Amino acid sequence: MTQPFSLPPMSAMLPSPELLQALKTLRRDLHQYPELAGQEQGTGARLQQFLSRYPPDRLLADLGNTGFAAIYHGTVPGPTLAIRGDIDALPIMEAATCPHRSRHANVAHLCGHDGHATILCGVAALLARRRPARGRVVLLWQPAEEIGCGARWLLADPRFTELAPDVIFGLHNLPGFPLGQVVWRHGSFAAASKGLILRLTGATAHAAQPESGRSPALAVAYLIAQLTQLPQTASDYCDFVQVTVVHARLGEVAFGTAPGEAVVMATLRSYRDDDMARLTDRAIALGQTAAQADGLQLAIEWTDEFAATVNHRAAVEQVRQAAIACHYDQHELTTPFRWSEDFGEYTRRYSGAFLGLGAGEQHPHLHQADYDFPDELLERGVKLFATLIRHSLG
Ligand SMILES: [Zn+2]
Ligand SMILES: [Zn+2]
Repeated sequence: MTQPFSLPPMSAMLPSPELLQALKTLRRDLHQYPELAGQEQGTGARLQQFLSRYPPDRLLADLGNTGFAAIYHGTVPGPTLAIRGDIDALPIMEAATCPHRSRHANVAHLCGHDGHATILCGVAALLARRRPARGRVVLLWQPAEEIGCGARWLLADPRFTELAPDVIFGLHNLPGFPLGQVVWRHGSFAAASKGLILRLTGATAHAAQPESGRSPALAVAYLIAQLTQLPQTASDYCDFVQVTVVHARLGEVAFGTAPGEAVVMATLRSYRDDDMARLTDRAIALGQTAAQADGLQLAIEWTDEFAATVNHRAAVEQVRQAAIACHYDQHELTTPFRWSEDFGEYTRRYSGAFLGLGAGEQHPHLHQADYDFPDELLERGVKLFATLIRHSLG
């Protein structure tokens, strides 16, 4: 089908040296004043102040608690293309000594969300200069990615219904891959994961007469062994599943007392949401078996729940075409990443794709104390998203 509009010259999609310098300054400013998930008010204010130079047609503030959206309309109606950037930092002490290091103790942008948020600002600046020919672009600055809540918060905001995208894109910088390489995959890109908390309650007794109490000690031992083995005990998983016991506690340090309560925590992980459902059922059954065997009460809690990030084929193809147009090196992932990303909440509901942008093979890894977002990726990211928009909406 021929497109009913003429494509703007490529130069209209390139950030100017002045804009790139402004983006770099913004990124380093965000880096100095990082905020944890759900507390990104200052970050949002800095980003919106930058955007005031490139006013959108609409700005939706306080979207999903501490997020916001900017909308740039095309001249004629058409599809909605959304791009999401995350804005939260991590509760880790930064080790870097650079001038733009974090000014907040034990909080730092060690996942590069300062860079992701800034890339969206670069896209906004280009859109303010030249609107798409048709449809609209919705830019989403999303809070609380690190705790798996932000995407759900945005989606649960009643105003999100008017932003509903036809297609949504997002990216993450990827240390360990060549700088600027576009990393893509059809289907699962990043794993689903969730935290399981099993609380066991029995009754304490004198350590000299443990038989008169109900100790969860054997149940804890059973659960640690059985949860770890859970992926191997069934053959109906479609793909990779994993259970990692992350914490266990039994009674108190008291040599005169047989314990009466315990907690076991584990992280469940899978490449597919249906496998996660099977794994979840079996983990619950193990808890029930352990509790019943020793007459214990069982309480189950779940936390840090992430859906699998599953890419849609057509959206991945759009990313690949944009990467080709930008002359970027590309890499197809053979297996999904084992880490999780709450972008999966969007691709559960809408067509979309999440991609990786290489941060350099020797670059410190995400969440490491010496990590810092490579500023070279700002231009790469802006150009890639601008090209995607140009291809889709003109
Ligand atoms: Zn992270
Ligand atoms: Zn991240």
